[in-house]
Amino acid sequence: MSKTPDNSPANPSARHLTGVAPRSLALLTRGNPMLARRSDPVTDILSKEFQGFLDDLILSGEENMGVGIAAPQVGKNLRAFILAPKPSKRYPQAPSMDPTPIVNPVILGSFGPMEKDWEGCLSVPGFRGQVPRSHGVQVRFLDRSGTAHELTLKGFIARVFQHEFDHLEGILYPERMEKEERLLDLDEFFAETGIRVPR
Ligand SMILES: [Zn+2]
Repeated sequence: MSKTPDNSPANPSARHLTGVAPRSLALLTRGNPMLARRSDPVTDILSKEFQGFLDDLILSGEENMGVGIAAPQVGKNLRAFILAPKPSKRYPQAPSMDPTPIVNPVILGSFGPMEKDWEGCLSVPGFRGQVPRSHGVQVRFLDRSGTAHELTLKGFIARVFQHEFDHLEGILYPERMEKEERLLDLDEFFAETGIRVPR
């Protein structure tokens, strides 16, 4: 997902695992066909190339103050994303997590009501929209060491997971918005919510 107004630098211990300094990767924006493609499973998690890519993806998310970033957003159609939620004015209850790579994720099921809340996206810069998402999801994924995990996620983190998972399916959040909703630019978003998002 996209910028929060007030997040802090992430724990650098999650980086530099390959001994190669990570690089910041260019972000693709809406309209680029790579963002509309279904991504392929990761087959060689432990390769130096993929581990280095995860470090690059973490850095790219941090530099753009993202609470999540998915591989297709930097032009790699692989099923991997980073979760990096931070508490913000908008979501004071959001957990603060070190950037966490999620590989080959599966959404096993969803539960609870559909809830609408504001989302933004590094690939849809300068806008916000109200997006309905399931309150909770049960998920399975591999971590960067290839170990499988099953988790039940609720609220903000479940929303971020669903948003990032959609990137792997070639779906951007405006496509999830209800017909009567429209994208707001950041001035309109401020007028509506009183939240000033840095550009
Ligand atoms: Zn996004």
